[in-house]
Amino acid sequence: MIKFLELKKITDKYSNEIHEAVAKVIDSGWYLQGEAVASLEINYAQYIGTKYCVGVANGLDALILILRAYIELGIMKKGDEIIVPANTFIATILAITENGLVPVFVEPHLDTYQIDDARIEAVITEKTRAIMIVHLYGQCAYTANIGELCRKYSLKLIEDNAQAHGCKFLDKHTGSLGDAAGHSFYPGKNLGALGDAGAVTTNDEQLAETIRSLANYGSTQKYVFQFTGRNSRIDEIQAAILDVKLKYLDEDILQRRKIAQYYIENIVNPLIVIPVVPNWNAHVFHIFPVRCNRRDELKKYLEKNDIQTNIHYPIPPHKQECYKEWNNLLFPITEQIHREELSLPMSPVLTIDEVSYVVNKLNEFV
Ligand SMILES: *Cc1c(COP(=O)(O)O)cnc(C)c1O
Repeated sequence: MIKFLELKKITDKYSNEIHEAVAKVIDSGWYLQGEAVASLEINYAQYIGTKYCVGVANGLDALILILRAYIELGIMKKGDEIIVPANTFIATILAITENGLVPVFVEPHLDTYQIDDARIEAVITEKTRAIMIVHLYGQCAYTANIGELCRKYSLKLIEDNAQAHGCKFLDKHTGSLGDAAGHSFYPGKNLGALGDAGAVTTNDEQLAETIRSLANYGSTQKYVFQFTGRNSRIDEIQAAILDVKLKYLDEDILQRRKIAQYYIENIVNPLIVIPVVPNWNAHVFHIFPVRCNRRDELKKYLEKNDIQTNIHYPIPPHKQECYKEWNNLLFPITEQIHREELSLPMSPVLTIDEVSYVVNKLNEFV
């Protein structure tokens, strides 16, 4: 059986170092907001290329807290609009609605799956405060045009970098391209903890301090509360594990690119649409998406051949039951992607033999 993702195999690769790092935390007697978190924050900020990194409990919290901090700082208020791609994981949208802000959906490109920047200006209104881009599947969504629109209309640029650690736009990492970025270290992400964790990166000191306070009950000084905050912490054990895995992130990405290249060069079945990759540094292949207009049939066929696949995602946010008010909106490109997308096995521990088997089965599909 070729699994979609074998987490155990990924962990095993760094097993000794992870066990050592965890043992060090256990023996230290200090389990929250200690040296391991401080070290990860420094190393991750340095890797991404920002002045600040604030560790939080998960990726959703990272995005929620960025927007909440902008509200506390008077830069946004309830009812303001945030422009987002219509095709994204629900967490991007949850972060917006959780804060009483309004998502304004924009269609993606069908070939790269990233937000279509040519459609953004038309939806900017008096109430627009930010563009929240999502580097979906690990591919860079930022364009010079998006940066230009943010300057022209004084909008914040927020990055959902949950799927794109290590991805680059020219020589800068995603997560450093805008005003703030949310990162997830969910186990299945390219940089994954062995549990939940997340982070915010930014160059804005005031924003970083506000988020740090909001994530700590709204307090910067013990038992003094400036905001009605929450508890959103990354724990020492997860931080220590992430610090180990961060060292190998670039190596893992090269492995993912090799697999992606193999898929792209060898899938020749005209029924299967492979992704367009204009720039290899701008893709870290968190997901390897293909499209097929008989997607469900293809998925079953691969399953019968012992190949596990996934769908990212079967239902777009605006069609979800929790967002009934948007169920009637029409986003044909987004809907087509959700109808046709299939994610092939992808991870740094997949062997070329395994990938070659998947390719052969894909090419035999009629
Ligand atoms: C995973 C993910 C999140 C949420 O991260 P969690 O750590 O699971 O809360 C947000 N946005 C995108 C695009 C994601 O893929």
